[in-house]
Amino acid sequence: MRELPDVAAAFGRRVLIVTGRDRLRHAGLIAMLEGKGLICTLFQVAGEPSIELVRDGAALMRSASAESVISIGGGSAIDAGKAIAAIAANPGDVLDYIEVIGRALPFEKTPLPFVAVPTTAGTGSEVTRNAVLGSKEHGVKASLRSASMLARVAIVDPDLTLGMPAAVTASTGLDALTQLIEPFVSIRANPLTDALCRDALPKIARALPRAWENGDNGEARAAMSYSSLLSGLALANAGLGVVHGFAAAIGGMFDAPHGCICAAILPHGIAANLRALRQRAPESAALERYHEAARLTTGESRASAEDLVRWVASLTQHLRIPGLSAWGIAAGDIAPIVERAARASSMKANPLPLTDSELGETVRNAL
Ligand SMILES: [Zn+2]
Repeated sequence: MRELPDVAAAFGRRVLIVTGRDRLRHAGLIAMLEGKGLICTLFQVAGEPSIELVRDGAALMRSASAESVISIGGGSAIDAGKAIAAIAANPGDVLDYIEVIGRALPFEKTPLPFVAVPTTAGTGSEVTRNAVLGSKEHGVKASLRSASMLARVAIVDPDLTLGMPAAVTASTGLDALTQLIEPFVSIRANPLTDALCRDALPKIARALPRAWENGDNGEARAAMSYSSLLSGLALANAGLGVVHGFAAAIGGMFDAPHGCICAAILPHGIAANLRALRQRAPESAALERYHEAARLTTGESRASAEDLVRWVASLTQHLRIPGLSAWGIAAGDIAPIVERAARASSMKANPLPLTDSELGETVRNAL
């Protein structure tokens, strides 16, 4: 982490620091920056970022004349900072540029320099070119997306994740696992992302339960940070699938953490894809991919795709991931969730289109 002050100074003296809820946790890092002569303006992100929050952050950035943004925190702080750096540089409103619910116009100006310092091992947002924002008005999450939004520098230091509570280790870690399975079976999978997923899947499978059981296990934390980083590279280059399609819908409608939604849906999303592939696309390469993912995660050379479903289900149970009903989601919510999920951008990379009844059954099973 010693690199951060020099990295930050390269982008100008005035910097907007975006942190999560507990900014005192990063007082040492911020003191290091101020010691280097940087003028820091702090902006806290209490939950997952919204369009309104990004407007506020961009206004603060302009009034402070900040020249760059550094996010120190989990995926929420990183996505918020990424979006603020882009919106502060541009003349339009967030709704001019956001996809699905806005006009999806290209940015007129290059976003201001953005530096990502993740303190969780989950979203991989430090290497993705989109920022996911919630919209209360639309009841859905959608992305600002541009290659120019990529962080100029990402400092991935597993030591920063040592203090993460077990429940956050579980939900963010299962998000990373989802982000390694979905790109691996995606219709946009390619040799580069395949290599990333093949390397990270066995590592995350071993490390996640260990990091959850003992948060001070440096080796497990390092493997989690590495796997999360690779998951971000994989999703940015191959897309996601049904689980993240649901996460976009549910995350916009309910106050439930992204990782918890992904974790609750993951085994059921895989099972739904397997059934649909066997019925309608038995020749699809995705079936063999699911078998391979089963072998990579379980370490069993004869594991089948069904073993992957069982392994994921028992892992989520072991890590005490609650069903979706824990977040107030009930059977009556299924229809609007399915309607929104079907339109989500992640759904387009799913190995095959799922019917509304298959999608509905998937959510019902995850309640
Ligand atoms: Zn995710």
